[in-house]
Amino acid sequence: MHVHLKKSVAHATPIVVLDRASFQALAPKMPKATRNWLATVGFVGAPDTYALLPGDDGKLKKVFAGVHSAQHPFALSALPQALPVGKYHLSDEGLSVPTEQAALSWELGSYLFDLYKPRKREAATLVLPPGLNTERGLALATAINATRDLVNTPAEHMGPEELAQAAELVAKHHGGKFKQIVGDALLKHNFPAIHAVGRAASRAPRLIELTWGKPGHPLLSLVGKGVCFDSGGLDIKGADGMRQMKKDMGGAANALGLATMIMTLKLPVRLQVLIPAVENAISGNAYRPGDVIKSRKGLHIEIGNTDAEGRVVLADALAYAAEHKPELIIDLATLTGAARVALGAQLPALFTRFMDTGRELVDLGLKQDDPLWHMPLWAPYQEGIASSIGDIVNTGRNALAGAINAALFLEHFVPQQQDWLHIDLFAWNDQARPGRPVGGEAQTLRTLLVYLEERFAN
Ligand SMILES: [Zn+2]
Repeated sequence: MHVHLKKSVAHATPIVVLDRASFQALAPKMPKATRNWLATVGFVGAPDTYALLPGDDGKLKKVFAGVHSAQHPFALSALPQALPVGKYHLSDEGLSVPTEQAALSWELGSYLFDLYKPRKREAATLVLPPGLNTERGLALATAINATRDLVNTPAEHMGPEELAQAAELVAKHHGGKFKQIVGDALLKHNFPAIHAVGRAASRAPRLIELTWGKPGHPLLSLVGKGVCFDSGGLDIKGADGMRQMKKDMGGAANALGLATMIMTLKLPVRLQVLIPAVENAISGNAYRPGDVIKSRKGLHIEIGNTDAEGRVVLADALAYAAEHKPELIIDLATLTGAARVALGAQLPALFTRFMDTGRELVDLGLKQDDPLWHMPLWAPYQEGIASSIGDIVNTGRNALAGAINAALFLEHFVPQQQDWLHIDLFAWNDQARPGRPVGGEAQTLRTLLVYLEERFAN
């Protein structure tokens, strides 16, 4: 942790947080030497900039930090790895950053994936007063950074078994229960689609299940796509397409991240987290294009392309989730390239049967600076995934509307009366921004948490 909870700010350097407007208001009241110094180094309160102010003894006396807005979840994220190593606190001068956002943005800005390559330097420390809001900020950041670690860890060290171990650790830490169905036991317990996709890998496929909560609380089901590496299978990907495929378990990582937030903040729900974890590999027993797989639900899936494996493993997991009749199912999956073509890296696609839920979540996402965008479950396109020899194909008839086709495919495994959100996300930053380095990312979790709190905590 790079945030320390303490009432005393002794020996900590003050940070004065300003935006352009508050800088202009404050500048005339500053000592002339300070004003001149800030003019010399060009500090005007621009977002994600800072200026160090030395004292007469040449030691650091004060920091000025520019923000887009003091309420922004990444307000202070540019600072922890840029300021000299040491202790800081937020000054009473300038804008007041709420403690939740201060803790969250500081921890997110301290993040670095350092499993193999050590940090060149420690991040700076922020001293914040203890309290519920500070703790909430830290809880969110901890879950987000853990999600990033899972995605960033290469497939060699994050196979189905290691993903299961990660889920087990999370379960243990929060007093939840963990179980898994591994390898050929998937057939015995009727998860044939998960088995078919994962059977060619030397590392056994599995269904991971984490449960938590008190009986009597409403059941919430989180389903995360856990394809630990996606070679594409026999429909093998090209080099460029395969390069980042360690992140194809990003849905599972995000589901565990959301579960961690829910359990840490003790939301009054019962949780069931389901992760179909497989490696989509190639060997003599790999599933093939043209195969027909009978799914858990009984629907026959024709394989149009072995690289559309995510929806196949999710089919069994969603069917199993629905058998428990939860209040709500949320699935998170790095499902289609088409969703990225439509919306890019920063905007996960949201699918829901209810237009008002879609609008509510889009608004909430904008408010939380953790956006997602509503796309349609356009029923007429069902015709494009119909199979002549089975019930449904895992690819569309043509190259159009790929993200919708995938969502419509999943819809077959979610009963009509079942409340369900499907989120097709990237789980990756392809471009560095303060607090968001290139690499694995948690997306929509803060938004979903607030949605769940509004729905279940009141
Ligand atoms: Zn694939």
